[in-house]
Amino acid sequence: MLKYDLVIAGAGYAGLVLAMKCLSGGMKVAVVDIKAEGDLGHDWSDSVEREVLEKRDIGFSEKEITAKPKGLHIISPLRSKEFFLDYAYEIVDMKLLHKRLLEKVEERGGELHLRASAVRPILESSGRCKGLRFNENGEPRELKADFVADCTGIKSAIKSLMPRGSGFKIELSSTDISKAYREVRRWNGKTKGNTEKVLAGWLSYHYGINGGYSWVHPETDDRIDVGAGIQLGKGYPDPENTVPERVKNLGLGERLRGGGGVIPVSSSHPVLYSHGVLLVGDSAFQAIPTSGCGAGNAMRSALIAGDALLRSRLNPDERGSLYERLYFQQKGADLAYYDVLRRRMQSFTPETLDWLMKKGILGSRELYASIHGLYQNTPAFSTLLKLAYGFTRIDVLLKLKRALSIGEKLREHLQNIPYRAKSGEKWLQKYYDLLSETYHFD
Ligand SMILES: Cc1cc2nc3c(=O)[nH]c(=O)nc-3n(C[C@H](O)[C@H](O)[C@H](O)COP(=O)(O)OP(=O)(O)OC[C@H]3O[C@@H](n4cnc5c(N)ncnc54)[C@H](O)[C@@H]3O)c2cc1C
Repeated sequence: MLKYDLVIAGAGYAGLVLAMKCLSGGMKVAVVDIKAEGDLGHDWSDSVEREVLEKRDIGFSEKEITAKPKGLHIISPLRSKEFFLDYAYEIVDMKLLHKRLLEKVEERGGELHLRASAVRPILESSGRCKGLRFNENGEPRELKADFVADCTGIKSAIKSLMPRGSGFKIELSSTDISKAYREVRRWNGKTKGNTEKVLAGWLSYHYGINGGYSWVHPETDDRIDVGAGIQLGKGYPDPENTVPERVKNLGLGERLRGGGGVIPVSSSHPVLYSHGVLLVGDSAFQAIPTSGCGAGNAMRSALIAGDALLRSRLNPDERGSLYERLYFQQKGADLAYYDVLRRRMQSFTPETLDWLMKKGILGSRELYASIHGLYQNTPAFSTLLKLAYGFTRIDVLLKLKRALSIGEKLREHLQNIPYRAKSGEKWLQKYYDLLSETYHFD
């Protein structure tokens, strides 16, 4: 039986970048996905952090960039305030990006098993995962490996079959999940009648609506992207209904591409490696909580995981733990801070959010930083209490201040994640204690 260094479940953005990275370091890698080649990758364009695309291992070609927005235009919930911000994302054709990543994996000698079914972990009696088993063309297959990566997105197909003792977090509260839907439509450069104004070339977000936002982006003179992301679990209207309504109101033409799905917007649980299994991408809850952008960070995390797995002087468990540590130090701790902020913001009414934006408490710098998932102790946030004396809504400011303080503590705690988080029981308990305060945001 063939033995691999790494077998990856899921040939999405995380899985392919992880495969590429490990193959370039000389590892023997196989990737297994349930989809056929033509169905892989999203049939639309996503916002992907420029900084991630500029990494040598990923890169991008101009033909993958479908639009160059002038910037980000943010409208407050009650439309009383608007902001014009820089946008450090590229709008990327996710089918083309996916195709290039897949070609790179093949060029580097990666083995692909597509249209697989019944993908399951091979578990030893100790609970350690030693590979994947699945059916291919109706025949049972087993691929044994030192490491297995679960890159199956929110389905978390391997993680969910691991024994309880693995310490992985499996269940997500529905309020920690966003549902997003988008359509790219033809248009004639004008909107119908007296409907909303559309700013040519700007990506406009109507912020703080239904626990998320809706957007409209005239990408070119004859093509426009319309979409929405909502928080689940609160009975908000489904974007698969609201987006077509908006398309109708705007009088847009033929549907060119689009689609929808769910995105985990909670930040990562500290256990990203256990019993021979690594979690990367949406299966590890690595999207930016305050914007729902997960593709860029899935690829960034795959590079971090690859770096750790290639440290051949370390034993497998040390390499897995190193991935956890590097991830939280490089990005995960910052995203935990934004997750606390997300929970707090989603607890406020649209009126309160509008007020915060009008007063500049949630101003340009704060919006820029949170949408990009870039930690910064921004002036408006840090001087909140001083501001509080001049305002009437002290209750709101105190709630926000408390959330920021928990966010800071959680961030610092995660930056100091010990090697083997699961064995650091005291450390893990403190993590849960800090997080539990955020469950009571009302
Ligand atoms: C409408 C919409 C808009 C979005 N917009 C943006 C955006 O603008 N910017 C951004 O950064 N992110 C965006 N996202 C989120 C982004 O798409 C995800 O965060 C990203 O795709 C996560 O990558 P991944 O590789 O972890 O998972 P995925 O891309 O979901 O890939 C998972 C792969 O695993 C495979 N798989 C599933 N089950 C199994 C199994 N049992 N066995 C084997 N393989 C399996 C799937 O077929 C798939 O190929 C959006 C999402 C949606 C739905």
